[in-house]
Amino acid sequence: MKTVTTLSELRAARAALAGTVGFVPTMGYLHAGHISLVQLAKRDCTSVIVSIFVNPAQFGPNEDLDAYPRDIPRDLQMLQEAGVDLVWLPTPEVMYPPGFQTWIDLDEITQPLEGGMRPGHFRGVATVVAKLFNAVGPDKAYFGQKDAQQVAVVKRMALDLNFPLDIVVGPTQREADGLALSSRNKYLSEAERAAAPVLQRALQAAQVAYAAGERSAAALRALMQQTIEYEPTARIQYVSCAHPLTLQELDTITEGALLSMAVYFGKTRLIDNVILD
Ligand code: AMP
Repeated sequence: MKTVTTLSELRAARAALAGTVGFVPTMGYLHAGHISLVQLAKRDCTSVIVSIFVNPAQFGPNEDLDAYPRDIPRDLQMLQEAGVDLVWLPTPEVMYPPGFQTWIDLDEITQPLEGGMRPGHFRGVATVVAKLFNAVGPDKAYFGQKDAQQVAVVKRMALDLNFPLDIVVGPTQREADGLALSSRNKYLSEAERAAAPVLQRALQAAQVAYAAGERSAAALRALMQQTIEYEPTARIQYVSCAHPLTLQELDTITEGALLSMAVYFGKTRLIDNVILD
């Protein structure tokens, strides 16, 4: 496994890879969710490139950029064991040269849900992902369903900007008790960690109601909310039942829906989602 930092090193190493290239962008502090995307890429492609970059542009002023967990030696060990060919660790100066002023903004799709709660977040995501795509030139790029709106935004951006690549979405990987794997789970206290699986229970309660014929989005939102409120440490930021592509809130569910939520446990903000089918 080769590790590179500068753009010229990356370009030389990329050019030396034969066949198709799968690309997994990450912010590091890797877990089995990231590795599952690497495995999908290995299944589909001749070579796999992973980037690790904690992107300052997607963190708000009151978010956890400085505290975001980092452990590069451990990440490299995991990627080596997973059979990755090339790891790119760009510095902020590589991604945002002095005087940087070129941003990618998407319209409606970034307004609701995470975009509504985290102004500027998807501007940072879309810009860095476009820059990573430009530099790496992958045939396929892999993203987790865990970040459902990110998937929608990246797909839209890749289509709008004519990136010649496929976006592949991997399923959310979970702990045994249902908590979605996330680098931020390490912030949870013991009591918060014990409460956090309520998110998956809320999604499951809504899925059961949907399977039994419930088609009112308000009823599904209420059911998720009630389930989460049962945990006294949980503080709901939003609970949503939205169209899976436009992300607009639904009244009646006709062709599936994206159920999603953002909930604070103490200072830690967790998100989770599922698509009804
Ligand atoms: P991050 O390092 O948090 O930016 O995540 C990098 C990629 O891993 C993104 O495409 C995420 O959606 C994906 N990811 C994060 N958590 C999970 C998970 N629990 N299961 C599957 N993919 C995940």
